[in-house]
Amino acid sequence: RFVSLEGGEGAGKTTVLNALRDALLREGRDVVSTREPGGTPLAERIRELLLNPDGERIAAETELLLMFASRAQHVRETVLPALARGAWVISDRFTDSSYAYQGGGRGLDLAFIAELERRVVGIRPGLTLLLDLGVSQGRERTLGRDLYPDRIERERDDFFERVRAGFLARARAEPARVRVIDASQPASVVAGDAVAILRMFIDR
Ligand code: C5P
Ligand code: MG
Repeated sequence: RFVSLEGGEGAGKTTVLNALRDALLREGRDVVSTREPGGTPLAERIRELLLNPDGERIAAETELLLMFASRAQHVRETVLPALARGAWVISDRFTDSSYAYQGGGRGLDLAFIAELERRVVGIRPGLTLLLDLGVSQGRERTLGRDLYPDRIERERDDFFERVRAGFLARARAEPARVRVIDASQPASVVAGDAVAILRMFIDR
């Protein structure tokens, strides 16, 4: 009952998350929607450190370990307790984002990330929806957004191309879990596709 949403900025994760939550709530299911980095008060404080480093450049390794510190807390305080009581959990990003951003984007060792996943996280979503979008389209969609100013300069198109490739590699490695949705479609179509895939997952 654990579902994650993945994709770059501007792919529409928030819209899809709301659609999935509404679909489950309409059926009377208990749903916890959450996000990473974050998802508990302490993990949200770590998110703040990551996204607003106050002008200081975060080393890639620091970023990786803070992401996993936040995730360790999120898993233990939010995800596992919710699953244990029988709720559905929908997370806006999870470990696949670390493979894509810290692995693909920042070039950190994927085997080390896998080791952290195994030792620190220990669970994987049953279903992951990857909202795949071209880098230039994502950039267009997020132009008006006040994203994280300290991160912008470092995150150029080649970075986002590597992130996107990192996500798609996750989908190729685990096609049954990671389902790719074409996020260049209108938001309502993307949300409809996502709900249809969730429906198949529930009925499987
Ligand atoms: O999706 P959201 O806007 O909440 O993501 C927050 C920021 O964190 C984004 O800029 C994303 O690029 C970054 N991020 C990251 N590595 C992760 C997860 C998120 O760099 N593992
Ligand atoms: Mg979002």
